[in-house]
Amino acid sequence: MRIHHSMISLVGNTPLLKLNSVTAGIQATVLAKVEYFNPGGSVKDRIALRMIEAAEESGALLPGGTIVEPTSGNTGVGLAIVAQQKGYKCVFVCPDKVSTDKINVLRAYGAEVVVCPTAVDPEHPDSYYNVSDRLVREIPGAWKPDQYSNPNNPRSHYETTGPELWDQTEGKITHFVAGVGTGGTISGTGRYLKEVSDGAVKVIGADPEGSVYSGGSGRPYLVEGVGEDFWPTAYDRTVTDEIIAVSDKDSFQMTRRLAKEEGLLVGGSCGMAVVAALRAAEPLGPDDVVVVLLPDSGRGYLSKIFNDEWMADYGFLSDSGPSASVGDVL
Ligand code: PMP
Repeated sequence: MRIHHSMISLVGNTPLLKLNSVTAGIQATVLAKVEYFNPGGSVKDRIALRMIEAAEESGALLPGGTIVEPTSGNTGVGLAIVAQQKGYKCVFVCPDKVSTDKINVLRAYGAEVVVCPTAVDPEHPDSYYNVSDRLVREIPGAWKPDQYSNPNNPRSHYETTGPELWDQTEGKITHFVAGVGTGGTISGTGRYLKEVSDGAVKVIGADPEGSVYSGGSGRPYLVEGVGEDFWPTAYDRTVTDEIIAVSDKDSFQMTRRLAKEEGLLVGGSCGMAVVAALRAAEPLGPDDVVVVLLPDSGRGYLSKIFNDEWMADYGFLSDSGPSASVGDVL
C-alpha cells in the first residue's frame, strides 16, 4: 500500500511550479517552491522536525518532555504537529496582539497557549520574552527550540530544501530568492546550492523596507514573518549575494496577483519574495532559472491582504499614498 504512516513523513518534498503570468516580459524561467504543501501549511514544518529530532539525539528533549517556544505563527504549527505525533507537550507564548484565529489553530493541535500583554517593556516579568524563559525554568523536562539561534533551523534547509531544488531543477537553478526572517531558509538552502554548484548559484534575499537586513532601522512594516530589528545567529550573511528591499504595497499587490493569476493563495512574504525575484530576473536571459521560495498559504491573511477594505485603508489598492499608517489599529 502506498501510504504515509504519520504526518511527519509528509514534511518537505514540496512542488516546484513555473510562474506563467506575473512573469510577463521576463526571459528567464521563474519557478516557485510552494511550501504550503507541507502538512502544517508552511516551510516551518521542516525546521520543527529537524530541531526536535536533534534535541532527541542530544538528550535535550526526553520522552514526555515539553516544548516551550515564544511563537504564534507557522513555527508553532510545525512544532505542535511534530510534538503531537511524537508524544511531547507544547506550550507556546504569544503576545496579546495575535489574532484569536492563530491561537485557536495552535490549541486545535493540542498545544497550550499562554497569552502575554503587549503593552509592557521586554524587561517586565509578564513580557512575552520573560514568561517563556520562566516557563522553561519551571516546567520539568522543558526544552526551548529557539529558532533564531538554533543551528538545526538552517541545517534543515541545507539537508532538505537545498537538495530538493538541485534535484527538481536537474542542476539548472541559477538564482535562489527567499525572504529573510530568522535567516534559516536562505542560509541553509543558499549554502547547499553554492556548494553543489561551485559558487555558481546566486543567492538573493528579499526584505521588507525598514528591516535591518536591507539597511533599515527596524521601523514597522506590515508583511509578516520576514525582516527583523536585530541580527539572529541563524542568519549567515556570507551566503547572501544581494538583498532586495520591497515595500508593503508592492508585496501585497503581488500577493493578490499570485492568487488571481497563478492560482496561488499565499501569504504576504510570498508576494514580497516574488517582487524581489522578478526584479532579479529582469536583466537575465532565457537560460537562467530563478527559484523563489513561497513560505506559507494565504489562508491566514484573509481579513488583511485579501480584504479590500483593509487594503484601501492603508492606500495599498491605489497608486495614491496611504490614508492610515502602520501601527494604527484598523
Ligand atoms: N515568511 C513567513 C510567513 C515566515 O513565517 C517566515 C519565518 N519567520 C519567513 C517568511 C522567513 O523564513 P526564515 O525564518 O527561514 O528566514
